[in-house]
Amino acid sequence: MNGKKKNRLAEQLLDELNQFLQEFYHQTLEEVVTDLKIRCLIDSETDDPNSILVGIQQSGLFYQIKNDAANRIRNAIERYMNNEIGTCINCEQPIPEDWITRNPLVEYCSSCLVKMIPTGEQIYRHEEVSDFASR
Ligand SMILES: [Zn+2]
Repeated sequence: MNGKKKNRLAEQLLDELNQFLQEFYHQTLEEVVTDLKIRCLIDSETDDPNSILVGIQQSGLFYQIKNDAANRIRNAIERYMNNEIGTCINCEQPIPEDWITRNPLVEYCSSCLVKMIPTGEQIYRHEEVSDFASR
């Protein structure tokens, strides 16, 4: 993954994080980042989304809340750090790039997802599988 794409992905993850923080911490990403900068967990001069993600991960913020949303976002950030985002966590096949663009938290490729879709909910078209992946 090139630097530009990686940066955009980091920005998307920060967007997801912003929604998560507002829902579960009643704080915006900006407030959290300001706090982490004061505590020197993030370089006070930086606006680099990658450095911000690293700082947030090192702060242990997600370990305070244990729910699916926290797990999903924490795992996505870990995959991002390990350059594994865009790889299915089940079979390690690549996940279509437009899925990741739509939702960076997507964890499974289309063939694994199809196997997980409950019976009776037949989904054949690529876009529909993609919608399912974003749930
Ligand atoms: Zn898979």
